[in-house]
Amino acid sequence: MSEPPAFHIAPPAILRDPAVARVLAALPEARLVGGCVRDALAGRPIADIDLATPRLPEAVIAALRDADIAVVPTGLAHGTVTVVVDGRPIEITTLRRDVATDGRHATVAFTTDWRADAARRDFTINAMSMDAAGNVWDWFGGRDDLARGVVRFVGDPATRIAEDYLRALRFFRFHARYGRAAPDAAALAAIRAAVSGLAILSAERVWSELKRILGAPDPREAVRLMAETGVLAAVLPEATARDRLDALVAAGAPADPLLRLAALCPGADVARLAGRLKLSGAEAASLAALADPAPEGDERVWRAALASRGPEALAAAAWLAEAEGRPGDWDGRRTWIAATPRPVFPLRGADVLAEGVPPGPRVGAILAALERRWTEAGCRDEAETVRRWLREMVVATGA
Ligand code: ATP
Ligand code: MG
Repeated sequence: MSEPPAFHIAPPAILRDPAVARVLAALPEARLVGGCVRDALAGRPIADIDLATPRLPEAVIAALRDADIAVVPTGLAHGTVTVVVDGRPIEITTLRRDVATDGRHATVAFTTDWRADAARRDFTINAMSMDAAGNVWDWFGGRDDLARGVVRFVGDPATRIAEDYLRALRFFRFHARYGRAAPDAAALAAIRAAVSGLAILSAERVWSELKRILGAPDPREAVRLMAETGVLAAVLPEATARDRLDALVAAGAPADPLLRLAALCPGADVARLAGRLKLSGAEAASLAALADPAPEGDERVWRAALASRGPEALAAAAWLAEAEGRPGDWDGRRTWIAATPRPVFPLRGADVLAEGVPPGPRVGAILAALERRWTEAGCRDEAETVRRWLREMVVATGA
């Protein structure tokens, strides 16, 4: 299957990467595929490195062993061999073609046909392959689409979406990152017609794509198109405030998917949303923290909030308040948060015991009362002052 390449480029930095070069020396027939070829052509930083090869997985493993490259036995069931060279993971997958699809997963067979492997990929910009010399195979016009900033399905959009409905969401992920021209009309029409099919996708896959869409530098246009096609209502009915997302991005808030999710879904039942999307425990906790609004009040109140919530959560609350249009000097608040050390309550249980209070629940109650007083006073007082309050309390109530 040695079709001539579509074009040749001066070998990009990724091919001079020693880890990649070592693996390609062991597997000279292998090519870079997918996102790393796209990003190399676009001159963008490369996230992960994927190689494909017509060799069967056992032969891949044998060739790597001969070259003293350690193989991590993950993904073997899908024909993927992972190696870690110089701390860099590289995935090597045997060429595949689809045998059957059901809207969520594909039954695949190994093949030696590079074009068949490319044809099962989602978008033209993701379907190119490149060898160690900088030869690029581009059967579907990926280079032109990348240059124009158009995300186009490989083949008929409706067919490709029906094979795997996740592709309707992936369209918006790549449009957010690579789209510069008007979106492909055929793709949008097919997505609009396929919205009801999105329901068969697992929550994990949906959230994983949503996270990437919301984590794009500027997801506003993609989210607008999601709303227009009905996709947003299907996968995220809680998203009632696109204007807040727009304001958040326009204000220059960090590209944090959870912050953006919180802006988009004000007043949502956070526990339900986290459960429905199957967020991780850490993500669910962050989202819950984001539901706590920025405090209202003077510096004393802000110091208390900084002590209890921490700088990140408080800055996030200030971004959300700004996106919501709450009046206030939010930039000034965030500058203050960044410049102010987080106040820490200065006493612990041992300090209470040292004053002669016997171990037991009273120790915790005393500490809580002291912390309350410390907080009300603006979280300023040092250990000596708080210890004086402690002594006064112990004397007043009898140790
Ligand atoms: P990123 O830099 O965001 O990781 P990527 O292109 O590497 O982008 P992945 O989701 O990691 O995206 O997928 C790797 C490649 O596998 C894609 O470039 C595409 O060729 C193919 N691919 C992944 N998921 C699908 C899918 N659902 N349908 C068709 N092809 C897919
Ligand atoms: Mg990837």
